[in-house]
Amino acid sequence: MSKFYLTTPLYYVNASPHIGHCYTNIGADTLARFKRLKGDEVFFLTGTDEYGEKIYKIAHQNKESIKFFVDRASEKFKNLWKILNISYDFFIRTTDEFHQQVVKKVVSILFEKQDIYKAKYEGFYCIFCEAFWSKAQIKETEGSCPDCKRKVEEIKEENYFFKLSRYQDWLKRHLKNNPGFVKPKIRYNEVLGFLENNTLNDLCICRPKKRVSWGIDFPFDSDYVIYVWFDALLNYISGAGFFYCEEKFKKWWPADIQFIGKDILRQHAVIWPIMLRALDLEPPRVIFAHGWWKVGEEKMSKSKGNIVDPYNLIKEFSLDTIRYFLLREVPFGLDGNFSYSALINRANSDLANDLGNLLYRSLNMAEKYFLGKVNPLKKDIPEEFLPLIEELKESYVKNMDNVEFHTCLERIWRFINVMNKFVEEKKPWVMWREKRIDELEWFIYSLLEGIRIVGVYLYPFIPNAVNSIFTQLGVKVNEQLSIKKSEWQREAFCVKKEKPLFPRFNVS
Ligand SMILES: [Zn+2]
Repeated sequence: MSKFYLTTPLYYVNASPHIGHCYTNIGADTLARFKRLKGDEVFFLTGTDEYGEKIYKIAHQNKESIKFFVDRASEKFKNLWKILNISYDFFIRTTDEFHQQVVKKVVSILFEKQDIYKAKYEGFYCIFCEAFWSKAQIKETEGSCPDCKRKVEEIKEENYFFKLSRYQDWLKRHLKNNPGFVKPKIRYNEVLGFLENNTLNDLCICRPKKRVSWGIDFPFDSDYVIYVWFDALLNYISGAGFFYCEEKFKKWWPADIQFIGKDILRQHAVIWPIMLRALDLEPPRVIFAHGWWKVGEEKMSKSKGNIVDPYNLIKEFSLDTIRYFLLREVPFGLDGNFSYSALINRANSDLANDLGNLLYRSLNMAEKYFLGKVNPLKKDIPEEFLPLIEELKESYVKNMDNVEFHTCLERIWRFINVMNKFVEEKKPWVMWREKRIDELEWFIYSLLEGIRIVGVYLYPFIPNAVNSIFTQLGVKVNEQLSIKKSEWQREAFCVKKEKPLFPRFNVS
């Protein structure tokens, strides 16, 4: 049995969860479910990032205690993952006591190694982004923050720095020796290009308490708290037991894949591997940056008021419709354009028509002609099905391992559509009229078995719908959840039809 450790970013609790957060976690959940289907032992980590001045300010504005604010905000994410059926194994909060201890330990180790040092700093600071900028960086924006365009303030202070610069050459070599370290390729090129054309500045890892008070205390200088990014990245090792549970940590680290949005690529593909290197730990195997969902040509954002609210969306369309749409519509690494017409189109044509209708009419025939009990007889797999079954057997695992969700779904639908065509061409009602009963039973059996196989493959994507498919087919759900079950089985079915699997939506 092999192990598989995957992570999502920790979500910053300054705003309510939106469809972008959902996208990352649905993708990660699909991969986790696939790995379990394959028989791997999986550890799936997600959680919330809760420190920083921004959080403090919002809580203050709301006249709430900071503890109350972060507890409630974190609970919102947990709640959403429940609604989205996210099968995470552990939910970490950066305010967790064990995490704070790990962060302090890491700072101490790196200070002893002289990878952290104290120095005078002069520059410009954006309170909103909690980011430092040099004179050159704010020159183009005429004195405002290059990220958020707010006014920056000039500061002169002493601070602690992490020696990113020491490891730049190592990271370049690591990238060159591991072309799969950052995916997709376009992000890999972005990181390598950045490292080749820039000299890394050392990273300021603290904020003086007089400016930012809400953070993990710096271990040996009580005037400072640790910078949120430096603290938050460490969750990927603290969540896996680093420092306090060596046995657990040895089992899971390095992470096999870390999912992120492309906007936090530099933190994850530059700062993070260097922090690990400084700690003498292996970097993760893969950093995978997915794209963004845009509305029209714009990125979804609160300030633009074009956020797609996940709660309403699920209420309106059903969870599995949303999961399917997000993973089928665009390759996971690219940007997508969110529109209701595209969503309704997928829901009606792929789910209600192709899959839902295939199931419905197959069950209907099984009940009408055989009272729900259908035997395999002693016949071969229909020759129409064979190439599709073979092709899926060959491509599914490979595509899933490569996080090519849309390709997998597209291949599965080829098989579904062959089955639909099979019904139309074989004309079962004629078999019935002409009393070709054996042929009819074999025909219906083949459809039911084909649908069962499709169910196994679809389980990571749309688990609720697949549960319903298995229940209606009369097979035990738990017994189906293994990739070995994608073989043609020749076991009798005893089916019970329920209402259609997916509703149809009106095109307005
Ligand atoms: Zn800013």
